Amino acid sequence: MLTYEQARRTVIEQVEEAEGPRATVGISVWDALGFVLAEEVRTDREYPPFHRSTRDGYAVRAAEVSAGATLRCVAEIKAGDTVTQPLASGACAQIMTGAAVPDGADAVVMIEHTNRDGDSVRFERAAHPGQNIVARGSEAKLGETILSAGMRLGYAELALAAQVGATQLRCACKPRVAILSTGDEVVSIDQHPGAFQIRNSNSVSLAAQARLAGGEPVLLGNAADRVDDLRDKISRGLLEDVLVLSGGVSMGKYDLVETVLKDLGAQFYFDAVAIRPGRPAVFGKCGDTFVFGLPGNPVSTMVTFELFVVPAIDLLNGAPARDLPLVKARLGAALNEKPGLTHFLPARVKWRGTTPEVKALPWQGSGDVAALAHANCYLVVAADRGQVSAGETVPILLRKDVI
Ligand code: AMP
Ligand code: MG
Repeated sequence: MLTYEQARRTVIEQVEEAEGPRATVGISVWDALGFVLAEEVRTDREYPPFHRSTRDGYAVRAAEVSAGATLRCVAEIKAGDTVTQPLASGACAQIMTGAAVPDGADAVVMIEHTNRDGDSVRFERAAHPGQNIVARGSEAKLGETILSAGMRLGYAELALAAQVGATQLRCACKPRVAILSTGDEVVSIDQHPGAFQIRNSNSVSLAAQARLAGGEPVLLGNAADRVDDLRDKISRGLLEDVLVLSGGVSMGKYDLVETVLKDLGAQFYFDAVAIRPGRPAVFGKCGDTFVFGLPGNPVSTMVTFELFVVPAIDLLNGAPARDLPLVKARLGAALNEKPGLTHFLPARVKWRGTTPEVKALPWQGSGDVAALAHANCYLVVAADRGQVSAGETVPILLRKDVI
């Protein structure tokens, strides 16, 4: 059985191998959060476009300002002012943050280090060339590439695009992720479940996870545990880039997902991973569609999506597969798990200063959505461990959607 690292590697290798040119779409910078850039963005001018003052103070010739020097203030320069007059020798100009430093001046002295009396400005300390000035072109040259294809667009990337006037961005079309729940007991969330039925919460978490990962969820509802219904709905799902199924991949008599996929021509790269929860997770390909059969227990579904589906969505967007957000934390309370599988336990991490401390939450196993809803991370217990004492350092997998 593959470890979760091996299983992730397998997903990454298969999706990388299959990757062809992807469709792109023009998106307004206002709407492009979470898209992956499919073009290079270049500067439209130098940055900064003029020698920019970083302080409120006085523009001076540094050579004329020793401690105790006095200069006559001859001008006031605000941010946005057109600056054409060079600074005369023996003079200084009052200048504001973000304003252009006039030719001739090579330093800005902070207002806090000056005393003014009428036009006369006295400097408390010596100035040195370049002080409090960002030189023209020092952040970026004209035509320099500042964002490249494959970059995920977060708020800073979008601000940078906006700064250079790139108001429309060519992005990868988000991979379409078909979501199909399975199970005779499952009813849609707007229906009232019978006494022995449950609502389809998995489709909700899967759609949210797909969206967070940069995919476009396509909701296909629920299929009964019957070959004909599964076949119909799986065939519909195979029209999309990725098909994610929940349920029906265990060893039960009515776990028919793998059989139906096989009949439809799927090939499988793995059908079990050495983790708990999530052990029966299946990954394969049918035609051009990547197929993930995730176990139906809600926490299993959520964990296996994070581990295996997210990297596929990254790659299909033209971005590198993100590393798992694993960090080290101090274990707050001892653990006693059965060794043999890597455990992903719902847990809560708190930062005491910069030191994270983590505690597993009480839970009733992989059906316990409430435990995960109170968790902000998964505590990862290595397969060869089982018993871990309080105070030991353990890896945790952050839930980036709530941290
Ligand atoms: P399965 O993987 O099909 O054996 O399902 C395992 C458990 O997950 C069962 O208790 C199911 O009732 C539950 N389950 C399956 N599908 C869903 C779903 N769409 N939403 C919530 N729970 C589900
Ligand atoms: Mg089932």
